[in-house]
Amino acid sequence: MLEDKIKGTIRDVIDFPKQGIVFKDITPILENPELTSEITKAFVSKSEVLKPDAIIGIESRGFFWGLLIAQAMDIPFIPVRKKGKLPYKTISYKYDLEYGSAEIEMHEDALSKGMNVIVHDDLLATGGTAMAAAQLVKSQGANVVGFSFLVNLTFLDGEQKIAPFSNNIISLVN
Ligand code: IMP
Repeated sequence: MLEDKIKGTIRDVIDFPKQGIVFKDITPILENPELTSEITKAFVSKSEVLKPDAIIGIESRGFFWGLLIAQAMDIPFIPVRKKGKLPYKTISYKYDLEYGSAEIEMHEDALSKGMNVIVHDDLLATGGTAMAAAQLVKSQGANVVGFSFLVNLTFLDGEQKIAPFSNNIISLVN
């Protein structure tokens, strides 16, 4: 099963980026082209039914499959980045983290009114990052028709935070 293959390839890194956190390291998957391609196909088949006009990928691990999915579906890929990284005019959204806050940005001309998009990232934890990306989409008059993640850390209940934007939450590993 694909889920078992992904689980068996992800590496748990203890105490990264700080003490007490078990970080899910997805980079070993990228070293396996067959598995990477199988994952892309799974994302594409689950995303197709939502008929998105674009895929929004969240920095930085959301860029890996975000672009692969968009390419396979022949639709645009739009990067969302941390503040200060995108070169052109941007819109931004600030959100709370466990300690402090973060701000993400999107180019102001990346989306147009009425576009339907999927917000993609490698991992859903508390949902704060995906929710912030969804806010950026909404502020441009576009619609979030779904979210997709390689991993959903279900015990953190991130789904609850993003469900108001869309109930279509694709995750390959829970
Ligand atoms: P959230 O905003 O709490 O849902 O955290 C999700 C964001 O943090 C995503 O952009 C993830 O890439 C990143 N993240 C949090 N924990 C992990 C992890 O264990 N592995 C990989 N990325 C993580």
